[in-house]
Amino acid sequence: MEYRDAHLNGSRPGEAALRVLAALEAAGGEAWLVGGWVRDALRAAPSHDIDMCSSLPWPEAARALAAAGIGVIESGTRFGGITAVADGVRIEVTTYRVDGFYGDGRHPDEVRFSTSVEDDLARRDFTVNAMAWHPARGLLDRYGGQADLAAGVIRAVGEPRLRFSEDALRILRAVRFACRLGFELEGATAAAAAALAHTLDAIARERVGAELGGILATGRGAFALRSCPEVIVAAIPELAAARGFDQRSPYHVHDVYEHTACVLEAVETADRAPSAALRWAALLHDVEKPATFTVDEEGRGHFFGHPERGERTARTIMRRLSLPDHLIRDTCLLIRYHDEPLQDTPASLLAQMRRFSGAGVDERALMDNLFDIKRADALGKAPACFSYVDEIERMRTRVHGLFDAGAAWNLKTLALNGRDLMRAGVEPGPRIGRLLDEALTAEISGAVPNERGALLAHLGLR
Ligand code: ATP
Ligand code: MG
Repeated sequence: MEYRDAHLNGSRPGEAALRVLAALEAAGGEAWLVGGWVRDALRAAPSHDIDMCSSLPWPEAARALAAAGIGVIESGTRFGGITAVADGVRIEVTTYRVDGFYGDGRHPDEVRFSTSVEDDLARRDFTVNAMAWHPARGLLDRYGGQADLAAGVIRAVGEPRLRFSEDALRILRAVRFACRLGFELEGATAAAAAALAHTLDAIARERVGAELGGILATGRGAFALRSCPEVIVAAIPELAAARGFDQRSPYHVHDVYEHTACVLEAVETADRAPSAALRWAALLHDVEKPATFTVDEEGRGHFFGHPERGERTARTIMRRLSLPDHLIRDTCLLIRYHDEPLQDTPASLLAQMRRFSGAGVDERALMDNLFDIKRADALGKAPACFSYVDEIERMRTRVHGLFDAGAAWNLKTLALNGRDLMRAGVEPGPRIGRLLDEALTAEISGAVPNERGALLAHLGLR
């Protein structure tokens, strides 16, 4: 095949992409690889998909692909997009476009197609995403994308305020790309993002949720909080009160917002890879601190009830952002119990495991996450609290031991069930439930091991 040896900075687009490109050009069109693949190839980083743009109107592109035996899905034809499926690989192909005026701050009122790739690059969001590459014609970099990649900056193509007012989602995309690539926002782009952050209101909440999840998934959420606070609190208005909120506590050297960033950072830099629930819990664990703040006679700040209220508020926020139910459930459990005092005893730890048990919960994973957030919370306070970390790690080890030894923390894990009790002569009825509870309570307290015979004996049934 033609172009087989062509590469950009050592990256080859693959046979499927070359087939799609050749089919479009055989039909008289022009086609380029564009966007993420070009950016990632120049960074010598792997890319997860390939986007192409072409001069052919989409029905012609679809015909050309079909004639070459390539599958076509009419995925976004309103905006000139189709998906080519070649050798099982999906490639987005969009017709060159000049976007029209964006009345709603998100979707162009009209889509005008173009015959020039330059027009298509001009409508793209950031310089590093606005480069095109062709295996014969090479790299097309009209906006200094390579220089910005080298300098590590995310810069809007054109006038940043204009580009963000066309589509406010780009504000969150800017933060996400900066986090993902470990870049800074260029000065004017950063200033426009902060000034126009309030326009995120026009964006569908699930899009905001997906971008925030994307930001957290980069592992640089703390950087986002610190470098773009206006954007973060525009996306989650409930966090606004945390900014600059003085905790008046000897345990805290930071305001609530900076403490949140510290906790997220501790989670993101820990040896254990954080779960999504742990990241969201770190972000939202103290969301209700400002609203629960009281000062005692000595002038010290307290936040009674902030975990319970925080759990409810986090659920409201996460539902609004259309995040998945299991993520909301685990995040809310972590927030609810992040401040729960635990002791390094089987009774205290099993009781916490019992509080966690519920439909679909992985108690072992969640207990680890609870220690992770407690550890991060301690590290985000004052240096005097750092020693608590050792105690947390001791508790973690003990919990692993309890799991490995087959201890019970709920009726499901108890080595005794209703059938055992009936076999031992107990009549079916409410007494069965009471006896099982009694056995579980005794096992959790350490009075009896999790063994059927011992549990029956404890109940006086053997
Ligand atoms: P990823 O690796 O996450 O797929 P990507 O750069 O390919 O990164 P996509 O969301 O797949 O990102 O978008 C493909 C390209 O389309 C981008 O590189 C950018 O050029 C353009 N683009 C996407 N969304 C927008 C937008 N909201 N405004 C302007 N251009 C956009
Ligand atoms: Mg892409």
